[in-house]
Amino acid sequence: VHSAGTKNITALHLIRCASASSKPTTVKNWINGRAVESKTNNWIELTNPATNEVISLVPKSTQAEMNEAVESCKEAFRTWSRTTILQRQQVMFRYQDLIRKNMRRIAENIALEQGKTVTDAEGSCLRGLQVVESCCSVTFLQTGETMHSVAKDMDIHSYRVPLGVTAGILPFNFPAMIPLWMFPVAAVCGNTMLMKPSEQDPGACMMLVELAKEAGFPDGVVNCIHGQHDAVTFICDHPDIRAISFVGSDTAGKYIYERGSKNGKRVQCNMGAKNHGVIMPDANKEQALNQLVGAAFGAAGQRCMALSTAIFVGKAREWIPDLVEKAKKLRVTAGYEPTSDLGPVISKSAKQRILQLVESGVNQGAKLLLDGRNIKVPGYENGNFVGPTILHDVKPSMNCYKEEIFGPVLVSMSVETLDDAIKIINDNSYGNGTAIFTTNGATARKFTQEIDVGQIGINVPIPVPLPMFSFTGSRGSFRGDTNFYGRNGMNFYTQLKTVTSSWRQEDATPTHVQMSMPT
Ligand code: NAD
Repeated sequence: VHSAGTKNITALHLIRCASASSKPTTVKNWINGRAVESKTNNWIELTNPATNEVISLVPKSTQAEMNEAVESCKEAFRTWSRTTILQRQQVMFRYQDLIRKNMRRIAENIALEQGKTVTDAEGSCLRGLQVVESCCSVTFLQTGETMHSVAKDMDIHSYRVPLGVTAGILPFNFPAMIPLWMFPVAAVCGNTMLMKPSEQDPGACMMLVELAKEAGFPDGVVNCIHGQHDAVTFICDHPDIRAISFVGSDTAGKYIYERGSKNGKRVQCNMGAKNHGVIMPDANKEQALNQLVGAAFGAAGQRCMALSTAIFVGKAREWIPDLVEKAKKLRVTAGYEPTSDLGPVISKSAKQRILQLVESGVNQGAKLLLDGRNIKVPGYENGNFVGPTILHDVKPSMNCYKEEIFGPVLVSMSVETLDDAIKIINDNSYGNGTAIFTTNGATARKFTQEIDVGQIGINVPIPVPLPMFSFTGSRGSFRGDTNFYGRNGMNFYTQLKTVTSSWRQEDATPTHVQMSMPT
């Protein structure tokens, strides 16, 4: 599943192989340009979320292996950081081509390990690919500043230099897109990077690092270790790692931000979310409801930009029965089945947590308009499936509202005015994304002005910025001050160096020692 030689194998074929073989494959460390079997005694079972069959074993890399990976990054940095920007740009041109050619294969692996549909996985690969394409603009994005004659015969110029060894820690929900927010950007700026994929689906990241080698990344520019908390702590503490990029939950993000910062590292953490979709009564009804259903239940709700809360304003509440009808029609089965609209959630424990939050909503007084808790999926009776679920009349004090559910559950509320909706959103602790559906420009403008959320969609349900911009979560959804990808991403992986130079004609040479600062 994880290594070269699987190029023409479909996901369904892989499933059959996985089921037929008595011994699951092992995921390898990637150190110095080679897939290396771990010597660990601690392995994590990676299961197909549609069946819960074990498909491979993920190592908890040993301390020695993790140290070796950092050493490899450190060694590679010595030469990689001295390559020219044009050489690194050429590597990115080759890399984007290889990713495009392998996108289907990577998407099939994601459908198998993570559970989302193949087409959705392919879309997420494309979003990652676009970041790599934007890395090809490094020659524009990395220009510095100069100022001539800041004093007599004196000039200043500043330019950005790479930091050194950096590290990336990944969540399970976008196993290809999110690594591509990280190591290509770090590498094109001249850094090296140690990756730690999610232990729940490392396959896509492994494919991407293999392809990076094929594209011309020298050995050691990107290395990959595996594991859970110990590997994360290792990264936070290692003195040779200068910066950490993290995407995942609040618990892990706060820990990494605090521990990494305390150890003097630059840290950027994209974390949890509760994204609200505001449906105004003047919206294009059909378009708004279709977009809401796609954004709430797509990828089984396991997107950090999923619209997991709907706020119906005024008479728009009359559309709720139509929303329920649309959600009912979604087809739930394994993501690698061509008919699937949404697949399983990642694990048994994730499913359990989702069901508990739905239950708590019902107990706290919400109305269960659509109940996907007891769904049976023919052929996949043992999978982690939750059908589309809608809770209405949800109040901000309820647990199902306060917590990120991260499943195919839409919590819904109705309010009288746009101001009521804005207040609810700004009072929520998260600030990742939000969307308003309206045909009124003034309403959209007021919303944009007053809302305190990083990414705003106007008739766009999932407003993830393209990589010529940056991913701009706010408040509880982000820690750090430099966002992922775009110009900000390049700034995160570089620091400024400033040179002040004085070149004088001989006859202007100073004749005395100057002891005070010039006035
Ligand atoms: P997670 O935090 O459980 O795991 C992410 C990484 O952290 C993994 O590599 C894991 O091994 C490690 N980890 C987990 N718990 C840890 C702990 N206590 N201490 C140290 N390391 C730990 O997240 P996940 O479940 O894989 O991903 C889902 C979460 O990620 C959701 O909250 C989602 O909103 C968030 N997410 C945010 C964005 C964004 O851009 N804001 C994007 C994708 C996902």
